[in-house]
Amino acid sequence: AEEKSLHFIEQIIEDSIANGFPKEQLRFRFPPEPNGYLHIGHAKSICLNFGLGLKYNAPVNLRFDDTNPAKEEQEYVDAIKEDVKWLGFNWSEELYSSDYFQQLYDWAILLIKKGKAYVDSQTSEEMAAQKGTPTQPGVDGPYRNRTIEENLQLFEGMKNGDFPEGSHVLRAKIDMASTNMLMRDPLMYRILHRHHHRTGNDWNIYPMYDYAHGESDYLEQISHSICTLEFVMHRELYDWFLDQIYDTNKVRPHQYEFARLNLNYTVMSKRKLLQLVQDKVVNGWDDPRMPTISGLRRRGYTAASIRKFCDTIGVAKRENIIDISLLDFCLREDLNKKAPRVMAVLDAVKLVITNYPEDKVEWLDAENNQEDEAAGFRKVPFSRELYIEKEDFLEVAPAKFFRLSIGNEVRLKNGYIIKGESVVKNSDGSIKEIHVTYDTDSLSGSGSEASKRKVAGTLHWVAINHAIEAEVRLYDRLFTDEAPDSHKEKSFLEFVNPSSLQIVTGYVEPSLQEAVSGTHYQFQRLGYFSVDKDATATKLIFNKTVGLKDAWEE
Ligand code: ATP
Ligand code: MG
Ligand code: MG
Repeated sequence: AEEKSLHFIEQIIEDSIANGFPKEQLRFRFPPEPNGYLHIGHAKSICLNFGLGLKYNAPVNLRFDDTNPAKEEQEYVDAIKEDVKWLGFNWSEELYSSDYFQQLYDWAILLIKKGKAYVDSQTSEEMAAQKGTPTQPGVDGPYRNRTIEENLQLFEGMKNGDFPEGSHVLRAKIDMASTNMLMRDPLMYRILHRHHHRTGNDWNIYPMYDYAHGESDYLEQISHSICTLEFVMHRELYDWFLDQIYDTNKVRPHQYEFARLNLNYTVMSKRKLLQLVQDKVVNGWDDPRMPTISGLRRRGYTAASIRKFCDTIGVAKRENIIDISLLDFCLREDLNKKAPRVMAVLDAVKLVITNYPEDKVEWLDAENNQEDEAAGFRKVPFSRELYIEKEDFLEVAPAKFFRLSIGNEVRLKNGYIIKGESVVKNSDGSIKEIHVTYDTDSLSGSGSEASKRKVAGTLHWVAINHAIEAEVRLYDRLFTDEAPDSHKEKSFLEFVNPSSLQIVTGYVEPSLQEAVSGTHYQFQRLGYFSVDKDATATKLIFNKTVGLKDAWEE
């Protein structure tokens, strides 16, 4: 195996093992909130947590952080599970923060009894006004010194649904003068009369993230709780909540932060992605232009390429922005090895080989993948009338035009050398047919002298009578701006690229007749394409995944 230096989280783990932490107590989790589909940023966190699990042979839980019923749905739970599996990882246990609601409630009672939590009955504006500023301490509110009895009674009433939303909250009683604003009596519970996708109408109060997260980690005995940098200031609070309940015989979780993945030319917050879906800027969460895992999958990105990408960017301690082209690089590397080569013409013009017999069909041998010997060969039909790309022909060739023109020769991939003779035009002057002759002795791979002749270029083509019509969806960036959500005065929606999707009719070789949704191909000279999930037995649909870096040369 390749020697790789440890990233900083691995180094932390190695250090704790060296200091006596039992290796078999290592345990990790990936904790998505089911309020949207996973995106490529989540893939980074998935690869990190599950990667540690594999490296240290430790369990990794999939924990749904479902403490806000206003935004969470079963559809998202299902999609998240599918995406994690597709990325190639297996979780140890599927768990839900909502499974801990009773325990969290009991611990909240314990805190009230210890005088460390109280019910505040002010408006959120009043509470905000007392919070102070980073340089100025906050002030105690009028309910801070309620009796334990009164707090217990009110909290129970909150739980039972006796009070309207917003009328009371439970707050931790910590320090209104703390230099860390998050420690100034943070909320633990709010009243929400909402149906929860798992607990139904059992609860009228729901715990806040900061309270629920660390305690859930503790309940699952997670040793290393990894999150992104914006939680650095939350760590003190994470530790404070654990201090209240921690049993020294158990593993005490610790929070570690790494830099979130940021990509240019896209947005990644689920809230913004949801807006794109709701405003119908895209056709759903798995639209191939979305940075979601399901969108990337549908577009034709492979799980291996996403894992490779996450591995390549590493685990950083400082925020940075990764260029999307690195992901495409990883993708091309993977598809170059895996994707069968086929011929497809996306902007067709008719070509007639005037000295080729009218009814003849030859089935030529075509190599499926020169990068993979096991891939073998297939047959492609060749006949008198073919489609080639419009842009592969110019009547008069400028200098360095390595394609077809009148009087010049090119090779047809896997076939013969042809020579441009004349054109037939439509009344508007556009080209209707290109007439060529072929060198009967020049068949590719035949070994003849003529087959070895060097010509200006090689073109892909399909035989008209055998070609299958296909819808081909071509994509461009969804946003025209490198950082669409970084503008103070403008919404990211103002930077949506109006021509991010172009649908064309193409013609593909008949070997693609039975192409199955999700299969990857290289359309020679054009790029990588994959069969869309909308394809049916009678209608082929392809998504362009990514272009080729270099056109092939023969
Ligand atoms: P968003 O802001 O996109 O809604 P989130 O952090 O609220 O993301 P969660 O479902 O809470 O979404 O995230 C689950 C895990 O994935 C968390 O541990 C979070 O830190 C991590 N994560 C989310 N976005 C990124 C990112 N861009 N890079 C790395 N990790 C991320
Ligand atoms: Mg979150
Ligand atoms: Mg979020």
